[in-house]
Amino acid sequence: MLSRTEGIVLRSSVFGEADLIVTYLTTDYGLVKVFAKSPRKMKSRFGSSLEPFTYSKISFIGKEDANLPRLTQSDIITPFYALRDDYNSFVSLCEILELLMHFLPERDPNAGMFSLLHKLLSKIRPGEGNELYYLYCKVRFLGLAGYLPKLDACGRCSKQTLEGAGGRFYVSHGALICDACKTDGAAAITLSQSALRFYLSFMKWNFSNIDRVKAPAPLVSEIAGLIDAHIKYIMSRPLKTAAFNGGKGPLKR
Ligand SMILES: [Zn+2]
Repeated sequence: MLSRTEGIVLRSSVFGEADLIVTYLTTDYGLVKVFAKSPRKMKSRFGSSLEPFTYSKISFIGKEDANLPRLTQSDIITPFYALRDDYNSFVSLCEILELLMHFLPERDPNAGMFSLLHKLLSKIRPGEGNELYYLYCKVRFLGLAGYLPKLDACGRCSKQTLEGAGGRFYVSHGALICDACKTDGAAAITLSQSALRFYLSFMKWNFSNIDRVKAPAPLVSEIAGLIDAHIKYIMSRPLKTAAFNGGKGPLKR
């Protein structure tokens, strides 16, 4: 069966002597892995279209349940090559692609994820501070995957954290825990009230707001540090596939 869709390359890995396995996030099928025959050997018709971030119209052939269909066509819509040439953009974007590949099940269409990734690639300007975009996308992807950290209330007693005297984020709980409920010995990150306020309003932003808001850099980096620690912890744990709930919001832990 021939399938046609549009996709963004998340990763290309060498397979055998000259072949590649390309992981795409597609509009119609979600995450898809395809096999690309010898693109490195001959002057391939795929050209540079199999590089990470490239957005293309693609076709692949294989039985519906085949786990590795073969790529038959790939026509670039937007190459996003400037993002590969800039080291900082490349590294930051690859972190986000890893996050997607970790959480997304294969062959489960998710229009929200695709649209967010496409917007991100379109917005990043190499050489400029794009931290807020990366942070926004990480938080949104975590939300769509059901893995948002719990920061609005204590993870134990549910008391609103903004009313309490500050909060400590317990990485192993994925939640802020108030002073009354705190656990000794577990790794925790202190979160300032102003960073918490910033985060709670940040959660209500749209992608298009980001250009207009002047966010204080120390608050952005405080939240970014917490989110990165949270991501690092959950990516080090075995993934509960049941936790992915199709973007219906965070699950109860
Ligand atoms: Zn509490």
